[in-house]
Amino acid sequence: MQCRECANILEVLRTCGQVRLRCTGCKREYQIHEVASDLDPETEKLLENYPTIIYD
Ligand SMILES: [Zn+2]
Repeated sequence: MQCRECANILEVLRTCGQVRLRCTGCKREYQIHEVASDLDPETEKLLENYPTIIYD
């Protein structure tokens, strides 16, 4: 999916105990709940690979 700020691609970023999305362009990080309503099927699939996901 795309960044809301600059429309670059967001990548899944795993930090300690949390999964976030980070823009490959402006490096802005999004928490999952921030973008939950905009998640596309491709990103949802990626996130399914992270069973320890914490949504807040
Ligand atoms: Zn961006």
